[in-house]
Amino acid sequence: MTTQRIVVDRNRCTGIGICESIFPERFEVDDDGTLIVHDTVVTAENRAGVEDAVQACPAAALSLASRDEE
Ligand code: SF4
Repeated sequence: MTTQRIVVDRNRCTGIGICESIFPERFEVDDDGTLIVHDTVVTAENRAGVEDAVQACPAAALSLASRDEE
């Protein structure tokens, strides 16, 4: 089964938190400006919110990667 996961490019992320404002259940910027992704797995239930956050990131720091998993 192929699962998609959220990937963060830490070299691009500026920690401003647009993703957090769109999908706070998944994305959180801590007091140091470091992005925390609470769960990287994309499911049917959260796909719309995840894709909205990925597209809204002004630094293009978020992407989705497919991985084959058993
Ligand atoms: S919106 Fe993009 S740049 Fe901003 S905290 Fe989220 S991943 Fe980082």
